[in-house]
Amino acid sequence: MINQKHIKSTFALLFVCFAIFCNSACACAPDEYPVRSHFRKGYYKKNGTYYSETTVVSSCKKKRPNHDFAYERFKTLQPPGWPHRGESLSSWTERQKEDVLDAFATLPLYLMKGTVRGIYRLKRSKYPNNPGASLLESGAIVLYDDAFGPKLPRIVAHELAHFLYSGLSLEDKDSYEKATGWKYNYNIKDHKVYLEHRDIGFVSENAKNNPEEDFCVNVEFYLFDNAQLKKTTPTAFSWIEKQFGQNTNQQRDKK
Ligand SMILES: [Zn+2]
Repeated sequence: MINQKHIKSTFALLFVCFAIFCNSACACAPDEYPVRSHFRKGYYKKNGTYYSETTVVSSCKKKRPNHDFAYERFKTLQPPGWPHRGESLSSWTERQKEDVLDAFATLPLYLMKGTVRGIYRLKRSKYPNNPGASLLESGAIVLYDDAFGPKLPRIVAHELAHFLYSGLSLEDKDSYEKATGWKYNYNIKDHKVYLEHRDIGFVSENAKNNPEEDFCVNVEFYLFDNAQLKKTTPTAFSWIEKQFGQNTNQQRDKK
């Protein structure tokens, strides 16, 4: 006699069989990828259209520009060789991965450097108000909890710019420093050569730290606040425009 227990276990077995079958047969098309069900907050698109909060159901979704670059790099462990031991691991949510994929879709191809090997999630930086960080030696980009907001594409662009800078030739680095007014001064007292920043023309205080940070901040502004960079640091604007201006697949204006 078939009792309720039997019916339940038959259903459970059928479900397991379907899941196994679906894993192999319900794969997404080559230009799509699987997205698991998750909650999405309401948001405004650039054109002013409001999309209300909803639960996104599991589905196959069309890949956006730079999808494969980002998707293959999501990491769940601590970045190798991470120097800040007090910073603890956080876990990716499906929504956060989607937000990062959206951010990558807005960025130009020249930021996709193979030396980036992983995108990691940590809770909080040891430095206050720091949403992101990189470790070039291990190819790691870290996104902290604070990164997930409207500025995420800028934060990702800034961290990618560190890898872009490290891949520049010495001639290009030299050319950038000269064009943007970094100076090497010989100090007669200790016979050492010091690198000094220009007197004016910084879109951010951090940019004064060194030419690399200056470059990364300026690339970020070039992509997201073009007018401000043109006004404050026209030399950096022209240099970046000349170097990378033609090589672009920016999609953000279409959003
Ligand atoms: Zn930086």
